[in-house]
Amino acid sequence: MSAFHGKSVLITGGASGIGAATARRAAAGGGRVLIADTDEQAGPALAEEIGALFHRTDVGDFDQMKAAVDAAAEAHGGLDVLFCNAGIAGPSEGLIDQGIPYDLDRYRKTVAVNLDGPVHGVHAALPLMRGRQGASILVTSSMAGLFAPPSGEVYAATKHALIGFVRSLALTLADDPLTVNAICPGYVDTPMIAPLLPMIGELGLGGTVVAPEKVAELAERIVAERGSGDAWLIAEGVCAPFPFHD
Ligand code: NAD
Repeated sequence: MSAFHGKSVLITGGASGIGAATARRAAAGGGRVLIADTDEQAGPALAEEIGALFHRTDVGDFDQMKAAVDAAAEAHGGLDVLFCNAGIAGPSEGLIDQGIPYDLDRYRKTVAVNLDGPVHGVHAALPLMRGRQGASILVTSSMAGLFAPPSGEVYAATKHALIGFVRSLALTLADDPLTVNAICPGYVDTPMIAPLLPMIGELGLGGTVVAPEKVAELAERIVAERGSGDAWLIAEGVCAPFPFHD
């Protein structure tokens, strides 16, 4: 039986890519899914297709994030799985990226979505999830949260920060049945990296691309296994907590 079966599952960034693949998997496995996303076209369309709810949510705004959590809890009888997955990346996040000028608004937006989003999500959901048997928080970090890539410094900073957040939170929750883990994908075939695909071999960070369904599979595995505080690296041929050990 699916680890999502009968569970109330909230997925931010669930309208596309990794979030959409996980929403499909959770719904197919008998989960009751709420997609929280800014995309008011793809989000409701996917929700209708898989029998989920859509809640228009900007994760960088705490009140909107809390409203999404409350909507999921009210419609689905609480919250069992919070997947803080929404994230953005873009060319102007590099500090010295091919002469692109420093864009303060873009910097603040990247931090708001990639870091504030999960922090808001956790704060909104913790009162509902603490002490709940079988409950899980997942946060999408990145391979760029484990290794320092040669550009996209701000993106890497937010993704490193998420791993610290998750590891610390897991220690805080050590005596609680609620688990918290980070997923650190390498390259995943989603709209986010479509512009990078032609040059991925030159980027020197692995060079291979996995399907979003593989990341969704890992999300379910983490929910099922009940470990906490891990940062799971998932790339071609690798799916394990980092740092690796025997
Ligand atoms: P994607 O662009 O396909 O999906 C991102 C989703 O987030 C979209 O539906 C978008 O509408 C939504 N979103 C953007 N800003 C939002 C906001 N403020 N509030 C709510 N939703 C918002 O990208 P993806 O590749 O599926 O990315 C998902 C996560 O995986 C991100 O955190 C990303 O950083 C991470 N990641 C992706 C890759 C990759 O290679 N694709 C690698 C490592 C990590």
